Amino acid sequence: MTNPLYDTLFGQHHQNSAVFLQLPGGKTLSYEGFLGMAAQYAGYLTQIGLTPGDRVAVQIEKSPEALAVYAACTQAGLVFLPLNTAYTADEVAYFVENSGAGILLCDDRKHRDLTPVAARCGARLETLNGDGSGSFTQHAASLPQTFETVARSEDDLAAFLYTSGTTGRSKGAMLNQGNLLSNAKVLTDFWRFTQDDVLLHALPIFHTHGLFVATNITLLAGGQMIFLPKFDLDQVIADMPRATTMMGVPTFYTRLLGDARFTKDLTAHMRLFVSGSAPLLAETHVQFEGRTGHRILERYGMTETSMNTSNPYEGERRAGTVGFPLPGVELKITDSQTGATLPQGEIGEIEVRGPNVFQGYWQMPEKTAEELRSDGFFITGDLGQIDADGYVSIVGRNKDLIIAGGYNIYPKEIELLLDQQDGVLESAVIGVPHADFGESVVGILVPMPGATLDLDHIKASIGKSLARFKQPQTLVILPELPRNTMGKVQKNALREQLVVSVN
Ligand code: AMP
Repeated sequence: MTNPLYDTLFGQHHQNSAVFLQLPGGKTLSYEGFLGMAAQYAGYLTQIGLTPGDRVAVQIEKSPEALAVYAACTQAGLVFLPLNTAYTADEVAYFVENSGAGILLCDDRKHRDLTPVAARCGARLETLNGDGSGSFTQHAASLPQTFETVARSEDDLAAFLYTSGTTGRSKGAMLNQGNLLSNAKVLTDFWRFTQDDVLLHALPIFHTHGLFVATNITLLAGGQMIFLPKFDLDQVIADMPRATTMMGVPTFYTRLLGDARFTKDLTAHMRLFVSGSAPLLAETHVQFEGRTGHRILERYGMTETSMNTSNPYEGERRAGTVGFPLPGVELKITDSQTGATLPQGEIGEIEVRGPNVFQGYWQMPEKTAEELRSDGFFITGDLGQIDADGYVSIVGRNKDLIIAGGYNIYPKEIELLLDQQDGVLESAVIGVPHADFGESVVGILVPMPGATLDLDHIKASIGKSLARFKQPQTLVILPELPRNTMGKVQKNALREQLVVSVN
């Protein structure tokens, strides 16, 4: 019997008494202990009648137990479906209904609101809290710490990750064992992970970054994770001396840079800092190197594909770029209208193909056909370009492209310029509806602490470098940009907010 994902990531550690997770308060959990827990959960999920291919939806806080549910699903051949802890009961109802999940695990605090949701969708409801307590772990506690692994192949589904759905309904991206396994192998090798690594893990585990990238690599290499419930600046700084690597979203790194305790000494022993999920400002990259001597390694990926590109481990990590396609991944830049490959250097739609690319959207054949070509290339929805040396850079999401008076305007070009203006900490550029031009350009500026922005001066200054049609017609000052947990600027929220105040 084989189960490629389980055997490769988890099964190899059955007799491994080494530490897998370092937990707050000095506690640790060994590989064996973790797998014993997972086996009990697999036993319980099977005992209540779930069979291979069934979906297990979880909206639970990050904990070793929560991670063991992922392992349990893999071992029992079930499809793991983690949900953002910020979703409301109404949003969760959609995911449970859409996926046809057989069970929903939630926190005690959400149990009351989710009871009618689960009943309506015909899903069993159990609790699992951040401290490991709850009906689920209680029921599983009396079961054996071994479980006969269910046979699966690389073609069998392992997880559904719902896309963040900033436009339209969220879609369930179906990932099979082969998708997850191929990416884990490539990244472990590419970023040189070994059993000596200790990864500082402060990311959520309902998203591909913290769940698959960080966890699968650590499991494959047999290393350890310092497993923090969330990003807490003091905790991260306190734990850094025990880590060798860290993965984060750009906001982790800007917050670290904002703290005087984050020094060259504190990071001298570190082997690698990885950033992704949102653009890392070139300036953050440069500042980080100035402060620590380390160049952050930026990579690019998404829910549907796991990781696509990475800056090199050895060789130049180029600020403002996401590096090269990973081994086995093909990447091309195409014309959004015709799908034809564009000449090197031009901006277009990023398309990728490889063993990492998902199997389509659950029960949405039309959406799948729109984005996943029959030749296997996935139209990512990101706009990008490739420089003369082969480094890929992301210019923005296709849907954020502004079209004013028939001209294409790439927000990133304007944002880079706005970021350089006196007193500007960061910026975002969006299009809002305009009666004449279709859309007009709005620049949102966040001042540095204590700075007062001179908007007339800024307008005049960027006017020197930007064609007239690209110049923001309105500049707005906000104390901060709305971001989700993965550090992505929520341009939809900005559009909604500003369409009212601008018009
Ligand atoms: P998600 O599916 O939530 O992981 O979001 C994926 C999207 O995040 C991609 O399609 C990109 O738009 C964005 N993204 C991920 N990594 C990067 C990066 N290094 N630089 C810029 N954007 C990124």
